Amino acid sequence: MFNRSRRNLARWFTLSMGSILVLFAGVIYHIEVKDKVHALDQLLYKRAELMAASSQYRLYQGQKQVDLSNIPLLGNGSHPADIELVYVRWYDPNGKLKRFFGTPALEQLKTSFGFLTIKSVDSFTGEALWLRQFTLPVQGGNSVIGYLQVAIPLQDTQNDLRQFLLMLTLAVPVALLLIGLTGWVLGGIAMQPVQEAYNQLQRFTSDASHELRSPLSAILTNAQVGLLIAADHPQIHPSVENIIDSAKSMSTLVNNLLLLARHQGQLTPESLKKVNLNSLLENLVVYYNDVAAKASLKLISHLPEKPIELWADPALLRLAVENLLNNACNYTQSGGTVWLRLEPHPERAIIQVIDTGIGIPAADLPYIFDRFYRVDTERARESGGFGLGLAIAQQIVQAHGGHIQVMSNEGKGSTFQIKLPLMKHNFPRQLVSKKVM
Ligand code: ADP
Repeated sequence: MFNRSRRNLARWFTLSMGSILVLFAGVIYHIEVKDKVHALDQLLYKRAELMAASSQYRLYQGQKQVDLSNIPLLGNGSHPADIELVYVRWYDPNGKLKRFFGTPALEQLKTSFGFLTIKSVDSFTGEALWLRQFTLPVQGGNSVIGYLQVAIPLQDTQNDLRQFLLMLTLAVPVALLLIGLTGWVLGGIAMQPVQEAYNQLQRFTSDASHELRSPLSAILTNAQVGLLIAADHPQIHPSVENIIDSAKSMSTLVNNLLLLARHQGQLTPESLKKVNLNSLLENLVVYYNDVAAKASLKLISHLPEKPIELWADPALLRLAVENLLNNACNYTQSGGTVWLRLEPHPERAIIQVIDTGIGIPAADLPYIFDRFYRVDTERARESGGFGLGLAIAQQIVQAHGGHIQVMSNEGKGSTFQIKLPLMKHNFPRQLVSKKVM
């Protein structure tokens, strides 16, 4: 129980912190992309402006035609090829292409002022090439004297971003692992006081039940002696009988509580024996044939010929199946049938207790293995149960590394199924270290 809660705490911690981390990584990546593109745009803008300024100057010098190949870029006379521009295009005010450098262009300008990311094809390799393009209207006096269009490859930026993404992709799982470990440690610290409180409660239940056993057996013995004396006094006879019934019932309850408190899921190596399930169940059939006959029920058993063996505490395992058979007999009307089946499977044995009884309402099914849970007090009063039988059966089965489940139809009957790992899958050492709670 504690390990499960600790695992759940660690899982939820990792999930919540992990989601925040992934979101955070996404935002950082997004900001990085924006920053890189912005820096690129600034560069592109500055270069385009310098080129445009130079052309304006020449125009004002009286040159009717601007020769782009002679325009100094960045003010140092370098050629466009030197600064990695993929192309430079000059359009007249009507958007007609006048000159270009680099990749051939459309005759008519399609895009207006601004930045654009476009996909192009490398003229040498034929591979797809992503470009950042900027189109600038060039002013001459009060009018637009043309449009300058420049483009720069996005390859370096894309490579940088890819590297950044790779770094994030590697860093996020490592961070998640660290978060998971932190969650596990924190879960352990958080569960410690709960575990201590639970252990104290278990100790108290165990001690209290143990202490109650002696006075209870004294009451029972004395009441039984009293019953002999009361045989001649009919007026007190029923009261003494009541005392005996109540003492027996309390004794069962105390024993059950002691059992639940003592076997907190750990089976001691000494208690484990090689058990032949077929013989264990055959013995039960002999006893329950009588019980069923008294309740006018039919008990049918299906046990395989081949022996099924496992490591188990035979007394506890017997008790688990007994609890199921008791319920099947208690909650099935006379004339009904109870089946006890044992099925071998490659890795596990399956024990089924099936009845044609009153069944369990669907709403109660999730709770019937809880301690002191009874479907309704009316039924419980008739059966005399405290709602501990199934909790005990479940605890025993889980202590053996098994699993118990129920299927039921109200008014039609119930099927309880126990799955137990077989010999080679339930070595004693595994069982001993297994926790049930
Ligand atoms: P109890 O000792 O009171 O029978 P259990 O833990 O064995 O307690 O069972 C819990 C409740 O589940 C019971 O109160 C009963 O109503 C219901 N129940 C258990 N087994 C059966 C069954 N085979 N058919 C119908 N109801 C059942």
